[in-house]
Amino acid sequence: MTDYLFDKKNKPEGTIVNVGDTVIGKDSFTVIAGPCSAESEEQVMYMARFLKSKGLEIMRASVYKPRTSPYSFQGLGEDGLKLLQQAREETGIRVETEVMDVRLVENTLRYVDMIRIGSRNMQNYDLLKEVGKTRAPVILKRGLSATIDEFLFAAEYVLNEGNPNLVLCERGIRTFEQQAYRNTLDLAAIPVLKSRTHLPVIVDPSHAAGIAYLVTPLSIAAAAIGADGLLVEVHPKPEEALSDREQALSPVQLEHLLSDLRPICKINARQINF
Ligand code: PEP
Ligand code: MN
Repeated sequence: MTDYLFDKKNKPEGTIVNVGDTVIGKDSFTVIAGPCSAESEEQVMYMARFLKSKGLEIMRASVYKPRTSPYSFQGLGEDGLKLLQQAREETGIRVETEVMDVRLVENTLRYVDMIRIGSRNMQNYDLLKEVGKTRAPVILKRGLSATIDEFLFAAEYVLNEGNPNLVLCERGIRTFEQQAYRNTLDLAAIPVLKSRTHLPVIVDPSHAAGIAYLVTPLSIAAAAIGADGLLVEVHPKPEEALSDREQALSPVQLEHLLSDLRPICKINARQINF
């Protein structure tokens, strides 16, 4: 049987991915939060300061947006990267953003600490290989309809190029349910991935749910079942968000989520990274 780099037996102690001083994996529980998209200096700086004040060390914000419709907000592009760099310099927060294009990987890494390959690009093999050639921390999201094996083989592409700094992200899969929630969070994937690989596994409850009120219960379930952290969307004014406004938590809702997570992390003997 082929030996794959993702196999748990290659690193039974588990991979730890460092983003600045923050650890993802092992005994930690890491919450990465921030807006779906970077929209303005005011929004980005407000979010960075707020997250820092709550002890969160990594902010998410997309500047290249994979939108279903070409007429929807496409992101601020490089101007957005400059805002992320400003947030990093002024607050010390680490920043994470999505890359969709092989040609933009190198430039994006001039501005951010961590890159994300989104669901729609999980099987973009050239992109996987390109981020695999770097040593940057990478979040790889599960494709909308990807099986566990397809997800793991996508991870193998990154590892095979020599980048060990990989975090898997379960973000819900497409099922027959189209109304009550956006995707179906595959909770079973978390222990399955944790048992088959040595890679940290985080959960994005926001894209799984599509609706803000589901984000907290799904987050709690993910923490309870053994996830290594979360990727959560939060916006200073969710009702004004330029993308994914229905699923964004308000700052107050994020604070409540963090306090709900504390007792679960304690039971699971997880060090809270917030
Ligand atoms: C995102 O996290 O910004 C995103 C677009 O999510 P996904 O790739 O999971 O749809
Ligand atoms: Mn989003």
